[in-house]
Amino acid sequence: MRHSFILFTLTLFVLVTGFAPNTKITLTDSEKDGLLLMREEEKLTHEVYTAMFAKWNHKVFNNIKQSEAYHGELVKGLITKYGLNDPYVAEIGKYKNETLQKLYNKLITKGKISLVDAFEVGALIEDIDIADLDKLITATQNADLKDVYETLNLGSRNHMRAFDKQLRRNNIIYKPTYITQERFEAIIKGDHETCVDNKAIGFEGASTKGCVGNGGKACAGGNGAKACAGSVGKNSGQGMAFCNGSIANRKGCCK
Ligand code: ZN
Ligand code: ZN
Repeated sequence: MRHSFILFTLTLFVLVTGFAPNTKITLTDSEKDGLLLMREEEKLTHEVYTAMFAKWNHKVFNNIKQSEAYHGELVKGLITKYGLNDPYVAEIGKYKNETLQKLYNKLITKGKISLVDAFEVGALIEDIDIADLDKLITATQNADLKDVYETLNLGSRNHMRAFDKQLRRNNIIYKPTYITQERFEAIIKGDHETCVDNKAIGFEGASTKGCVGNGGKACAGGNGAKACAGSVGKNSGQGMAFCNGSIANRKGCCK
């Protein structure tokens, strides 16, 4: 009798509140701070690259700024999901985080000196981004956060490779400030990464990794490809001819 009363009360609670007790995932303060930081950091990257593209008209900034806008949306999705206040300021070049505000001002000034300075600004941004993401990934057990951060980090590694390539063409070897030299070298020696694990889905070639946990949804830094729209298996039915044919012919995320 006592048991059935408890069960009745519990059922009533679930029906009234719509939630089973103790199933709502909450974030720690540092996880919340991490999301707010990344939301504004991705805004900064997008706005700096947009300004660099406007100034220098170099395609590397155009490709990467699109990826950064997508990164910002991914973080915004988590901010909404976990009911946080979005720190995003609509005005370009304005940030609530004072460190990012100073950084933006500094980077915009440097990036307008010369195209090579702008490439260095790009490498520096990715250096900061990777260092922050590495820390945030290690510091959380939350699968949503880890997935998004891994996606952002994969994009950042590709961006770092792109800026490093441009700098090397100008005989400049970037010296990392935020990540270690070892981490930097490992990144630039690696191939361009895509968000779908080609090997896991039966396509040869490409040492691809990352985003596997996202069901193929995220696509960071995929040369303007914004999303994989659903799981890998469903992509072909959505007007997105993914993963078919040779690597060179693959579109979007599988490029
Ligand atoms: Zn990014
Ligand atoms: Zn980036």
